[in-house]
Amino acid sequence: MTSVIETKYYPIDPLAPDQGAIEECGRIIRTGGLVAFPTETVYGLGANALDEEACRRIFEAKGRPQDNPLIVHVASPDDIAVLTTELPPQAAKCIQAFWPGPLTLVLPKAFRVPAVVSAGLNTLALRMPDHPAALALIRAAGVPVAAPSANLSGHPSPTLGRHVMEDLAGRIEAVLDAGPCRVGVESTVLDLTETVPVILRPGGITREQLTEILGQVDIDPGLQDESQAPRSPGVKYRHYAPRGRVVPVSGPDEKVQARILQEISRGRNQGLRVAVLCSAESAPVYAASGAEYLEILGSNREPWTVAATLYRAFRECDQRNIDLILAETFTRSGMGAAVMNRLEKAAGHHVIFET
Ligand code: AMP
Ligand code: MG
Repeated sequence: MTSVIETKYYPIDPLAPDQGAIEECGRIIRTGGLVAFPTETVYGLGANALDEEACRRIFEAKGRPQDNPLIVHVASPDDIAVLTTELPPQAAKCIQAFWPGPLTLVLPKAFRVPAVVSAGLNTLALRMPDHPAALALIRAAGVPVAAPSANLSGHPSPTLGRHVMEDLAGRIEAVLDAGPCRVGVESTVLDLTETVPVILRPGGITREQLTEILGQVDIDPGLQDESQAPRSPGVKYRHYAPRGRVVPVSGPDEKVQARILQEISRGRNQGLRVAVLCSAESAPVYAASGAEYLEILGSNREPWTVAATLYRAFRECDQRNIDLILAETFTRSGMGAAVMNRLEKAAGHHVIFET
């Protein structure tokens, strides 16, 4: 069992992070400790990626299943050469176009990276985050930093320093808090180990953006089809989820709104605490609906605004002891693909379709 650790908490300026705090956190990582840090996607829980014992502690602190590999974060594209055995031309194109940024590349793993990091796979996931504090921390640590999202396994990923403290205070050495994460959902995971690149997890870089640079880009069929195992081990877990039951409702706007209003009444009649997560466009419809909690996720025309608030809204539902979360659905184009993937996963793929 993990003993209780005193977690140091450092509020920092996201654009000009305090160098003292960064140096101290870099030292903690270098010497085998765990530090949660902001990235543009979500907060990460970092350890020295070349230190097997430190990486084991990540799994312990999060309660993460052993078969769910970690993403290794670097501060410069030059740093991946020693971590992988091969750099296909597509990797160079992706790095040029999207790093630093929310794109994780899966490449053949170099022997020197401990097996615990890749959960025994012979591939390794690599990313250069686009956040000044993350880059400064990795540089200060002087080592590649293995980091999954900084939540307890099963909880929604943290997009605020406060979320990290709620989940991991007492379990890790330090937290760097630089305020809200810009993207709000995890990175896109792209497998480059075969001829055609495959999206293993939709995220902060869209398929449309990748296709523009790479040509054909496939999507892992396991993401949609429950009868097929997804190729990215972590994707199979029902995470990203609040405690309440998430019910997305899909269809024409008016039909969706009517159904949600109906489900609110039904839920309340059963004594449930009900929340509605909706678009700015339809929020007025629910104003007097009797829902316990109404959250405007963003605009349906701007799916990145929805991505930026989704996990915070999930956590807010938990704080308010919500039992039933009725969610509108959003476009699947652009960032909408990642939003809908997280929403459907949180719902265990049970969606109400109105026609
Ligand atoms: P997290 O950082 O918590 O979002 O989790 C990392 C994600 O990256 C999980 O979904 C993993 O399955 C995925 N991942 C990490 N390494 C690999 C790999 N070598 N091959 C496929 N997916 C990976
Ligand atoms: Mg995670």
